[in-house]
Amino acid sequence: MNQSKKAVKRPDGRKVDEIRKVSCKAGVVKNADGSAEFIIGNTTAIAAVYGPRELYPKFKQDPSRALLRCKYNLMSFSVSDRKRPAPSRRDIELGLVIKNALSQLIFLEKYPKLAIDVFIEISQADAGTRCAGICAASLALADAGIQMRELAGSIAAGALGDLVVLDLTKEEEDYPEGATDLPITYLPKQGLITSLQLDGDISFAGFKKALKMGINKCKELVKLQEEALKINYLKGDKK
Ligand code: UDP
Repeated sequence: MNQSKKAVKRPDGRKVDEIRKVSCKAGVVKNADGSAEFIIGNTTAIAAVYGPRELYPKFKQDPSRALLRCKYNLMSFSVSDRKRPAPSRRDIELGLVIKNALSQLIFLEKYPKLAIDVFIEISQADAGTRCAGICAASLALADAGIQMRELAGSIAAGALGDLVVLDLTKEEEDYPEGATDLPITYLPKQGLITSLQLDGDISFAGFKKALKMGINKCKELVKLQEEALKINYLKGDKK
C-alpha cells in the first residue's frame, strides 16, 4: 500500500489519523450506579451501569465470578431511516461484542454470584457506534466504582480504497470504491486488544498501519476518560 499516492481525500478534510471532535462526561444518569456519555462527531453513546447486584434466577449465579451483561441499543431516531425499536440481530451481536471487549477490564472474580449490567443507548449514529459505546461503558464502569484493571480505549480504524484512516463516518463507510472498517478495543496497561473486527478488504501492510494508528488513538481516548472521571469526582456529586 502506497500512502504517497493519496488517491482519496476525506470528505470532511480530516488528516488520515485525525478523529472527529470528542467529548466525554461521567455521571450523566443519576439513577444509575455509574454512567457516562461519549460523543465523537455526530455519534453519541450513553452508558448506564447497574451493579454489582443480586442475580436472579439463582441458577445463573456463578460462585467464582460476576456475570457481566451488556445491552446495546440503536435508538429509532438515531439514524435517518427510522430503525425498528425491537432489538435487531445487529443490536444483539453488538451487545455480545461489547461484553467480550469489556470482560478483561473488570475484576469479575471480586463479585461472585452477582451481576453487572451495562446498558448502551446510541442516541445519534454516524458510524463508530460500537467503539463510542465501549468508551462510554468503560467510563461508566469506573464511575460506578467497580474494581477495574484499567480503562479501555476503542476506535474504528479502516481504509478508503488504499488510504488507511481512523474513525470513518457513515459517508466514508459508504465510499463507492470500497471502504474497510476495522474497529479496535485496546487496554493500554495490559497491552491487550480485546476486540478486533474486520469488514472489507485490506492488505497486510495496511492492516498493520491501521492497527498501529488505532492503538495510539485508543491510548489518547483512555486519557480523555481519566480527565472526565477526575472532573466528575471533583464535582463531588457522586453518591
Ligand atoms: N446504521 C443505520 N441503521 C441501522 C444500523 C446502522 O443507519 O439499522 C448506520 C449507523 O449510522 C451506524 C452505521 O450504519 O453507525 C455503521 O454501522 P455498523 O454496523 O458498521 O456499526 P458501527 O460503525 O456503528 O459500530
